[in-house]
Amino acid sequence: MSPRKPTILVTGGAGYIGSHTVLALKRAGYEVVILDNLVYGHRDLVEKVLQVELIAGDTSDRALLDQLFQTRNIDAVMHFSAYAYVGESVTDPAKYYRNNVLGTLVLLEAMLAASIKKFVFSSTCATYGVPEVVPIPENHPQNPINPYGATKLMVERILSDFDVAYGLKSVRFRYFNAAGADPNGLLGEDHNPETHLIPLVLLTALGKRESISIFGTDYPTPDGTCIRDYIHVSDLADAHILGLEYLLQGGDSEVFNLGNGLGFSVKEVIAASEEVTGLTLPVQECDRRPGDPPSLIGSSEKARKILGWQPQYPGIKDIVLHAWQWHQQRHK
Ligand code: UDP
Repeated sequence: MSPRKPTILVTGGAGYIGSHTVLALKRAGYEVVILDNLVYGHRDLVEKVLQVELIAGDTSDRALLDQLFQTRNIDAVMHFSAYAYVGESVTDPAKYYRNNVLGTLVLLEAMLAASIKKFVFSSTCATYGVPEVVPIPENHPQNPINPYGATKLMVERILSDFDVAYGLKSVRFRYFNAAGADPNGLLGEDHNPETHLIPLVLLTALGKRESISIFGTDYPTPDGTCIRDYIHVSDLADAHILGLEYLLQGGDSEVFNLGNGLGFSVKEVIAASEEVTGLTLPVQECDRRPGDPPSLIGSSEKARKILGWQPQYPGIKDIVLHAWQWHQQRHK
């Protein structure tokens, strides 16, 4: 008999990055259980596309977690569930500290009670704040400039302390700008409300929005608009499989940036979208959005070196093309 395949609990598996990672886990032969409170996640996507067990609930529900860990053989946890609207985190920080920090603490305590000690965590480049050097390395100072980034940094600190005290091993991934969609069109980015640049550009191309707002044209960048490191969501998903395997093979706790190391300005993203869609898109130049650093580009050399990660879709056109294919089908 072949050995049992590891079973992975994926919190937030009905969301954007979580769902793409569940797809990658399934393809790699893992058993998956999703825990998602379905506030922003999509039940239909889990039932129709992912076809894995979905438990609807919060990571702060200790009784639910205890029961889950007692009844399933969970080998490791991947923790995607979090609120992630930067603006909302400024106006309603309590919601963010409660869900992102407290919810994670309860999850970690339940894991320890069940002797589960492998954890893959979704952190963010927002923990760095305004970069002092670009591309940003992992040892760059972390000074988040909004509560969202602060919640993720707090969990990173909890994870360091839990490793020392309880031997909980974690891989912390600091994502840059997750974008794109499954190249086979099975999954995509479907936030409500949508605030991210690429989906907003494509919703404009589909006629669902009147125009694209460019938030600031006077930044100290070559074309005056903000530069971001867009990383294909399927490449992010692949990195998670590598990070998980690193932990399952006994790897020590580590932190990795996940980005392309390439930056694209807002205007470049819009130009790539015009090329992909074949349309001229209406734009409006607006004031800066508060809290936006001019340029965020990550160095992901460490993930390449230690995990052997190799992004398959580093170009902005592939990222936009896959997102466009998904949006066209989603809004048919
Ligand atoms: N952006 C923009 N118009 C929009 C949405 C975003 O100009 O309607 C800009 C935003 O200021 C940032 C970049 O696009 O510089 C990426 O923003 P997004 O919200 O996608 O990701 P973030 O970098 O905030 O995580």
